[in-house]
Amino acid sequence: MGAIDGMEQGKVLTPLEIYKVLAKSNCKQCMLPSCLAFAAAVIGGQKNLDDCPFLSEDAKKALSVNLVKRSTAESPQAEFMAKLLTRVKKLDFAAMATERGGDYCNDVLSVRSLGKDFHVDRNGLVRSECHVIPWVEAPLLSYLCHSSHQQITQNWISFREIKGGIDWRGLFRSRCETPLKKLADNHPELFADIVDLFQGEEVEGFDADIALVLYPFPHIPILICYQAPDRELDSELTFFFDECCGTNLHIKSLYTLCAGLVKMFEQIARNHF
Ligand code: SF4
Repeated sequence: MGAIDGMEQGKVLTPLEIYKVLAKSNCKQCMLPSCLAFAAAVIGGQKNLDDCPFLSEDAKKALSVNLVKRSTAESPQAEFMAKLLTRVKKLDFAAMATERGGDYCNDVLSVRSLGKDFHVDRNGLVRSECHVIPWVEAPLLSYLCHSSHQQITQNWISFREIKGGIDWRGLFRSRCETPLKKLADNHPELFADIVDLFQGEEVEGFDADIALVLYPFPHIPILICYQAPDRELDSELTFFFDECCGTNLHIKSLYTLCAGLVKMFEQIARNHF
């Protein structure tokens, strides 16, 4: 059985990789509203490849090689994704593009993320000039679908000050701030690479050795402040967020975004240092 074009062997499938080989007719014979919702449901374990009558036996076999269904505990994420995909279809891309800091052209909404353009079509399919990073997809669609929106305020607040942040604070500390602090302690030059690779901005006026602003999305500015260890004083690393982040993204998506960023930085450190 050969691989499907463009599909990496041995890699865990994403919903979009399944979507690419579906008929894309949104005929609903699988009892879901769209092919994209079906793809997310297959990953989430609520649907089987056999539930789409238009998938060829060859395609099913090729997909099955890399298909890892998520456990029940992860299924809410697949459900969340399926809901987002349904909501994207109802968005007025043309009307919302400027407010969200994006560009609209040919029924595609383009949004800049960390210096790269990401393009979202009417079905919620995300494409990019670079490899589409799976952890960007859900927060990006969530950013576009979020019911409220605020422009950048330039007032920085901590994670716990954001609505819902107190509940997620422990997880945020252990998955985002602590691992990035360790990474920076071992690779102080990492931040220079981050500035270059992701169009970060070094900023002044903060009580830190390094203060760096990143834009995962146009109106989601994140400030990372790092204080290197000094004699017996331990290092410190804290994320701050423009006040608008709490309005523009649900706290869970903000956490997902930051945890994904840190994982990506760890990968860069593994490859470069
Ligand atoms: S049955 Fe297949 S082609 Fe029809 S909507 Fe579902 S996934 Fe798409």
